[in-house]
This record gives sequence, C-alpha cells and structure tokens, in this order.
Amino acid sequence: MTANTSHTIPSYLNPAQLGPWGDYLQQVDRVTPYLGSLSRWVETLKRPKRALIVDVPIELDNGTMAHFEGYRVQHNTSRGPGKGGVRFHSEVTLSEVMALSAWMSVKNAAVNLPYGGAKGGIRVDPQTLSRGELERLTRRYTSEIGVIIGPTKDIPAPDVNTNEQIMAWMMDTYSMNEGATSTGVITGKPIALGGSLGRREATGRGVFTVGCEAAKRMALPIEGVRIAVQGFGNVGGVAAQLFVKAGGRLVAVQDHAASLYKDAGIDASALWEHVQLHGSIKGYADAESVTADAFWDTPCDVMIPAALEQQITSANAHRIQARLVIEGANGPTTPEADDILRERNILVVPDVIANAGGVTVSYFEWVQDFSSFFWSEDDINARLVRLMTEAFDAVWQMAQEHKVSLRTATFIIACKRILHARELRGLYP
Ligand code: GLU
Repeated sequence: MTANTSHTIPSYLNPAQLGPWGDYLQQVDRVTPYLGSLSRWVETLKRPKRALIVDVPIELDNGTMAHFEGYRVQHNTSRGPGKGGVRFHSEVTLSEVMALSAWMSVKNAAVNLPYGGAKGGIRVDPQTLSRGELERLTRRYTSEIGVIIGPTKDIPAPDVNTNEQIMAWMMDTYSMNEGATSTGVITGKPIALGGSLGRREATGRGVFTVGCEAAKRMALPIEGVRIAVQGFGNVGGVAAQLFVKAGGRLVAVQDHAASLYKDAGIDASALWEHVQLHGSIKGYADAESVTADAFWDTPCDVMIPAALEQQITSANAHRIQARLVIEGANGPTTPEADDILRERNILVVPDVIANAGGVTVSYFEWVQDFSSFFWSEDDINARLVRLMTEAFDAVWQMAQEHKVSLRTATFIIACKRILHARELRGLYP
C-alpha cells in the first residue's frame, strides 16, 4: 500500500503551481545545511503561519458592483508582529503574496528588526479605478483584514502601486473600527498623520547604501559607473538619482511601458519629473528608445532590477553585462539565474538585504508613533545608513566564511535568528 501523504503536504507545496513561492522554497533548501541543530525547525519556514483570502466588494461609480480578491499572509511571527507591504496589481496571486511575506520574514531578521514577516495584496489594476473607487476598495479591504492586523499584530505598509494616501485610508479605516486613532497600525503614512521623514526615499537610499558597500569591496569606483535600472518608481527612481549624484552614469532604464538607452547618461532627475507627470518613462525625449529585450544586453557595470519578481531568469542571465546586480525588487532573480550569475562572477546583492531600507524606516516610523516623538530627517538617514552598513558587513563576512553567495549568507543569518526565536518560544499548546 502506498502511503497517503495528502493530509501532511499542503496544496501550496504542490510543485506544479509554485511561482515565486517555489523560488523561495529553493532558497530555504540551499540554506538548510548551514542551520546546524536549528534545522529541525526548518519546516516552519516552508509554511506560512496564517493566510487570509478576502472578498472585497465595492460599488463602482456607475452603480454596479465589483468583487476583487484580496490577501494578507503572515508568514512568521516568531520574532515579533507581522510586517510587510500591500500590493495592488492585476496579477497578484496567493502564492506570490506567500513568497513576498516569507521574504519579509528573512529581510526583517537580516537587519534585526523586531518583526516577523507578512504581506498583502489585491488582485486589481488600480489605474482602472477612480479615486473614489480606490478609496472604497482600500477601506473595505482594510476592514476585511482588520481581524488579523494591528499595531502589535501585523503592520501593513506600501508596496507596488500603493502610496501614502492609501496608507492614510487604511490607518483611518482601522482606527474608525477600533474607535481610537491608531497610527502604529500602518507605516508609510503621510508626515501629517504620524509618517516618518525619509520613509518615501528609504528603500532607494538603502539600495544605494549597500550598493556602494558592495562596489567598495569589488574595487569598483562609483565615479563614472554605468547603471541600468528596471523600474523607475520609489525604489529604482530614487536609487538611480542617488547613484547619479554620487558620480554614476544612468545608461539604461526600463519600466512597464518603455525601455530607454543613452550611453552619455540619462538625466535622472529630469526623467523622474517626467514620470511624476506622465506615470511612466514612455515619451521621455532625451534618450534612445530600445526594445524591452535589448535592455538585458545593455553595456553597464551595475544593474538594479527594481520592478517585479522573476525578471532575471535562465533565459537572460547569461546576457547581463554588469559586474554587480543590486536587487531593489523582491524576488527578481530565479535560483537558476542566481547560479548562472555566480558562475559568471557577477555579484548579486540580494533583495532581502538590498531593499531592506524601506522596512527599516517603517520600523523607525512605528517606534516614533508609539512614543509620539518625531526624529529629524538627518537622524533617520544616519540611523538607516548605519544599520544597513552593519547588516551588509555581517552578510559579507558570513559569505566569506562559508564561501556562499550573499543570498545564502543573508538567509543563514536571518533563518538562524528566526528559528532560534522559534525554539526559545517552543510550541504552544
Ligand atoms: N514593501 C516594502 C518591502 O517589500 C516595505 C515593507 C514595510 O515597510 O513594511 O520591503
């Protein structure tokens, strides 16, 4: 008789439908040999603690009803409350949100924030909604996930296609339901509502900070360095501008609508202005327009994928000309592509350390909200740079010690912290 394992293997471990969650599971497998006796707990990393699917019905402006699918996944809460953004995207799936929530657990532990990991999303293209529809969608979603979020339970924040205004509506909805203003339930809020100075630029600033640390160790000078960026929003756009200010040359930019190239260097702040006005880099005149596929052949020194998951794959990894890849996005490189880049001696600074600047300043925001005492922007940026530099240094040393990639090194540090906390807490009941 064959053993019936269907009651022990959850459906989300089905290899046929994994997507980015499958990439994450492979990353965990790669780190397991380095976990020592803590590896007996590793299975907890392969299953989200809690996953909520919600129906989000709203009335559209034309009087009809529309239903959207929403999610909030708490991957792990061993080290503290769940923490992670909310993404509005037409192709969001439960398995994608599971992967994103797991990467939050790893990221938060890697920089030693007192948080677990969580993520949320709504399967919607927000561009198709009016402002009123977007507000109703956000408020209903927040009410639906209100049963599991809270300032000491799980703290949402911005992610792809969500912004300060959406965070303000989320904070207000939660507070109305509670009957008391609760600023600490959401981070990434407007400054006027308990938001933190420096939060908006924090992810890009963190990408720049660890990018410079990596470049220093490779003896790659920032002066004159050629940068290619995929995604020119809050992460890629800010990081590109900081690199250009430091003497770098922005030679290529790609977003969902266009791909641009200019060997002499694109004016990053003029392009930023263009994006604020038109919603994309499309139509920016002072660069050559190239095909989306040609972006991967760009002659450059540093590539910053700062858009979505699974962009660098076995299909294009062998074409990348950069010496350094800094992952502004979450999960942009598949495990197969990771191996190809490593074989080609291209250094990858992984998402779980490279883009941790956003959640780090979210943590500062949360702390400021609890004490109702707000810090200066200089203070915030200085703390951010110190924390990221120290975390990167620890990752670098771990990678040298075990002769592993920076991704595996980050996972070793983070997974040990998570599983150590798990072991100390024990199983209840
Ligand atoms: N969405 C961001 C991330 O992926 C920030 C999350 C947060 O601030 O909680 O890291």
